[in-house]
Amino acid sequence: MSPDLQRLITLQQLDSTIDDARRTIAAHPQRLADADARLHEAMQAVDAAKQGLKDNQEARRALDKDVALYQGRLSKFKDQQAAVKTNKEYQALGHEIETAQKELGGVEEKILERMMEADVLTVEIKKAETALAAQQKDVEAEKKALASELASVEAAMTDASERRAALLGQLDKRLIALYEQVARARKGIAICVATRDGLCSVCHVRLRPQVFQLIRQNDSIIQCDSCQRILYYHPPPPPIEQPVTHHP
Ligand SMILES: [Zn+2]
Repeated sequence: MSPDLQRLITLQQLDSTIDDARRTIAAHPQRLADADARLHEAMQAVDAAKQGLKDNQEARRALDKDVALYQGRLSKFKDQQAAVKTNKEYQALGHEIETAQKELGGVEEKILERMMEADVLTVEIKKAETALAAQQKDVEAEKKALASELASVEAAMTDASERRAALLGQLDKRLIALYEQVARARKGIAICVATRDGLCSVCHVRLRPQVFQLIRQNDSIIQCDSCQRILYYHPPPPPIEQPVTHHP
């Protein structure tokens, strides 16, 4: 293969590495923010579950006050009933007592409901706290992984940039200009292989036979007629020799 073609292939690999690294570095803050958002969501779930229990306890306290109120009313009626003179008064108070007992029963039923709800809410808090602990562990590990990925990508980018600069020193200026012009026009891919059946591997146009013939020799700079990318050829690997088997 011509040294220039080989250098352009290497240049393309370095540029792709640099591009990938840039994308990874650019995406880093968002990935950190996403991890933090997950953690925040888990914290909010715990807060919401705790708030639910707090609301439940407040409602419960209000119901306890109602119980005291109805019990007070009930014992007052009973005292009054013990002191009445007429049958009519006695019956009237009996009616009041019945109503107060019904109301007390209703409140006690609501207290029972709140107690069962409190059990469910306590389980929910536990679940949310367990999920939060898992998420904290997860996010911590992810941030660690992200940090080490960032460091290695930054190192790869520095290395590729240095090698790129050295490579540019070995390439003809006109060739660099051609490469960069095509790269700019073609989403960063300036050089690609011609397939074994004679197509440009990126734009898939069929190459003219005599052009394909030249590309297969890998010793000159030939561009795809359609996408202008510089083309080279990967010869197929030599056929693997089948071991000779002897049949008795
Ligand atoms: Zn093409």
